[in-house]
Amino acid sequence: MTKGTINVTVENIFPLIKKFLYSDHEIFLRELVSNATDATLKLKHLASIGEFKDSLDNVKIEVIVDKKKKQIKIIDQGIGMTADEVKKYINEIAFSGAEEFLDKYKDKGDDPGIIGHFGLGFYSAFMVADKVEIISKSFKEDAEAIHWTCDGSPNYSLEKSDKTDRGTEIILHVSDDSKDFLEDSKIEGLLVKYNKFMPIPIKFGTREETKKVGEGDKAKDEKITVDHIINNPNPAWTKKPSDLQDEDYKKFYHELYPMQFAEPLFNIHLNVDYPFHLTGILYFPKLSSNLDMQKDRIQLYQNQVFVTDNVEGIVPDFLQMLKGVIDSPDIPLNVSRSYLQADGAVKKIASHITKKVADKLHANFKNSRQDFEKNWNDIKVIIEYGMLSEPKFYEKAKDFALFPTLDGAYFTFDEFKEKVKDLQTDKDGKLVVLYASDKDKQHSYIFDAKAKGYEVILLDSPIVSHLIQKLESENENTTFVRVDADHIENLIKKEDPKISKLSDEDKEKLKTIIEEVVPKETYSVQMEALDSDANPFIITQPEFMRRMKEMSATGGGGMMGMNNFPDMYNLVVNTNNDLMDKILKAKTNKEKYVNQALDLAKLSQNLLKGEALTNFIKRSFELMK
Ligand code: ADP
Ligand code: MG
Repeated sequence: MTKGTINVTVENIFPLIKKFLYSDHEIFLRELVSNATDATLKLKHLASIGEFKDSLDNVKIEVIVDKKKKQIKIIDQGIGMTADEVKKYINEIAFSGAEEFLDKYKDKGDDPGIIGHFGLGFYSAFMVADKVEIISKSFKEDAEAIHWTCDGSPNYSLEKSDKTDRGTEIILHVSDDSKDFLEDSKIEGLLVKYNKFMPIPIKFGTREETKKVGEGDKAKDEKITVDHIINNPNPAWTKKPSDLQDEDYKKFYHELYPMQFAEPLFNIHLNVDYPFHLTGILYFPKLSSNLDMQKDRIQLYQNQVFVTDNVEGIVPDFLQMLKGVIDSPDIPLNVSRSYLQADGAVKKIASHITKKVADKLHANFKNSRQDFEKNWNDIKVIIEYGMLSEPKFYEKAKDFALFPTLDGAYFTFDEFKEKVKDLQTDKDGKLVVLYASDKDKQHSYIFDAKAKGYEVILLDSPIVSHLIQKLESENENTTFVRVDADHIENLIKKEDPKISKLSDEDKEKLKTIIEEVVPKETYSVQMEALDSDANPFIITQPEFMRRMKEMSATGGGGMMGMNNFPDMYNLVVNTNNDLMDKILKAKTNKEKYVNQALDLAKLSQNLLKGEALTNFIKRSFELMK
């Protein structure tokens, strides 16, 4: 038996490991199962180049919890280690990593999760154990099995063991303050979290299965005991897209998110070899509640080992609404988030994913436009958000972002401009894009626009005000106005000045009458000579004010403090409507008529409520008498 001191300058490293990594104790299991997986994959590699001859068909990793003995065991059938290898890989190399780690992170106790990066993976075992044993037998012919023990001080012992089969067994003697990890449910939960898609089967106990035996009349159910395998070693993203059907992608979606019942809309299979390696499947989900968006997030893997489901800084913001997996060996495991975000490879990954997603969307748009239109309502928020936040995405998305008309036809912006340019260009040569945010609420305004033959598009996502601001800046001589921003004749001004039926004097008189009745703090009265059959009073809200308010409500772009402004409206008075004559000439009911016309205008903007509504109804009945 050899006794020795682990090659490290720090007197007692383990308390430090515990302290630094306090919040992340559970990763010990991922580290040890990863090592077992690596050891098995190495042997598979040797087999593939003919340096190992035995069958590896049924190799697996086994995790055992022995609550009575307070032990956790991780057993593999991989390449194993000789005494020399243990000395080299466990005693020396791993600890040189430990030194580097301590040096670098001495003062950063709150920045955990750096273990693997510095080759401290194996020693993470000491976060939960006060004694660790390695029993290993190398695959090499005639290799002698070894038994290494270390009790958390820099002293270890190394002796022969009688282990007869190939592979490594790690035994953790779980410390009292880590007793939680002796619960089967806890360990199973961790295995599912971190190792659900690792490439070597992981056994955790057994389970009962019913199986049909015999045939015909004699057939009966029989209970058999089988290995309880935690993981799917061949998840969909590791396969070739050409080997997968639509069903397979859907099945994998539910495997990834067992609590998710909705089907995804479509997926993007990522497969990159250059300039870095990356595979993955991203899904566009059906839009649902915000709560849902929070939980089933994109999961990040490194060689099928789960790293995190917080992909902030790795995947561009707007794509974080997607679901699915990304796997890249180039993503450093176990580094802090700030380190990850600053990493060059990670930055390239973000811009590459953006490009891939844009290309796939464009292909979908071109190849099956009907489906694309059908999905538009569910994906538009993501795309519109992307157009606003990523200039590169905008450049691509402007060719497939859709604008639905109120009649349910979908146009790209260029197509739409082409369609309406003749009718909706105003006298100054500006193309006016009319939009509505609510078909019902803005019905009377839409009605007026349609009566003139104009097209109205429906823009109802929460960031619309920002998007149209962007579109206006990208498209020269184009302006967006909501249908209720003014009377339609003012929204698209043509070269035909309307002749006023009223004299200037009467107009002034009328204005005074109206202003005496209408509350000044809410309405500013605007006298206009419109078509005689256009409504007498029309309430409008100027585009600029409303848009700025909306923008400041949804963050950025708008003016600070706009939210506190009260709602201001224009009251457009159509001086050519016959009612004006009636108001001017009325002897007693002037005020009643003005109020009635105002209330009717309010009704068409959905502004009539409460007491005002009651008064309106009373007055209407009176006027009918
Ligand atoms: P890393 O996995 O990053 O190399 P670790 O500290 O996790 O660092 O492991 C150190 C080394 O110990 C490994 O590189 C490997 O050579 C050896 N090792 C650890 N666990 C096993 C195992 N189960 N089978 C064979 N070798 C192992
Ligand atoms: Mg490791």
